[in-house]
Amino acid sequence: MTKSTDLRAINLFDLEATLAEWGEPRFRAKQIYEWLWAKSVTSFDGMTNVSKELRAKLKENFTFHTLLEDAVQHSNDGTIKTRFLTHDGHRIESVLIPVPSDDRFTVCVSTQVGCSLTCSFCATGRMERKRNLEAYEIVDQVAAVNRQCLLTFGKNLTNIVYMGMGEPLLNYASTMESVERITAAPPLGLGMGARRITISTAGIAKMIRKLADDGYRSNLALSLHASDDTKRNEIMPINESNNLKTLMEALEYFYQLTHNRISYEYIAFENFNDGPEDAKKLIQLCRRKFPVRVNIIEYNPIDGAPFTKSGEERLNAFAAAVAEAGITVTVRRSRGKDIDAACGQLANK
Ligand code: SF4
Repeated sequence: MTKSTDLRAINLFDLEATLAEWGEPRFRAKQIYEWLWAKSVTSFDGMTNVSKELRAKLKENFTFHTLLEDAVQHSNDGTIKTRFLTHDGHRIESVLIPVPSDDRFTVCVSTQVGCSLTCSFCATGRMERKRNLEAYEIVDQVAAVNRQCLLTFGKNLTNIVYMGMGEPLLNYASTMESVERITAAPPLGLGMGARRITISTAGIAKMIRKLADDGYRSNLALSLHASDDTKRNEIMPINESNNLKTLMEALEYFYQLTHNRISYEYIAFENFNDGPEDAKKLIQLCRRKFPVRVNIIEYNPIDGAPFTKSGEERLNAFAAAVAEAGITVTVRRSRGKDIDAACGQLANK
């Protein structure tokens, strides 16, 4: 362990061992862990029941990096986008999506600085991937937005979606560690329900299987956006190495092992993926050996992308065709588009 090790990058067992070397009682490690993960303290000095001497020793031996709030934007529809600054000067974004009428307050978190996957409809995909976020940087987004939610709406967050900047399954270790810290009961974590979390992936079959093998307990969303390989290759280059057949098999495997909820995210692009043939193919993809629900999302145009959003009539007809096949469909109207906080728009503007 060196001074460059972040206090939140070590596990409880190692912290206990370090404290034992310093002659501290074992319970101190849990006390410190509680400050770090359950109480979301933002500095060594915030750990008020830890002696000054021990805090000084921690400071000498560890770093303690936190995200700094860099900018906050409020949308007319209540959505709040927060841009955070990392300790090494990168910017990432999180979005609070409040639906007070349903008592639903969702945070959308980022997992990488930029993204390497270059989906053609997504602003983040045009930013180079600079680095993966650490688990604590993902948890910090949740803790900070939860404080924002309490201040603004008097409510705690109810849902967490990993749908912000980056591909969570390409930052697997930190993503899983963050889920662990968010769901662990205090003093070891924030104590939020595993069923309240959804990881969204552009579709990396090998990692979907790994999620199942590793006993993942939360929900999974596949960013489908096209229901045949030709169209999907066109908008999501990751499909060339992870085609629909491979992905469907991985999802079947995932469901067999976990029985966790699976959904397809489907952005509707006018005259590209919103016709009757597309609906038929989508229905086929829903008739697999796992139950699935479909979220059809209104497209939020970004500069220079060759798409327009589906017209109201086409969108409704498409959703109706899928629903008539007995599939649970929700049409998600865009939220936060006036502040570039909607799906596919996050780009640190
Ligand atoms: S949609 Fe997701 S995976 Fe694709 S480029 Fe954007 S952030 Fe990356």
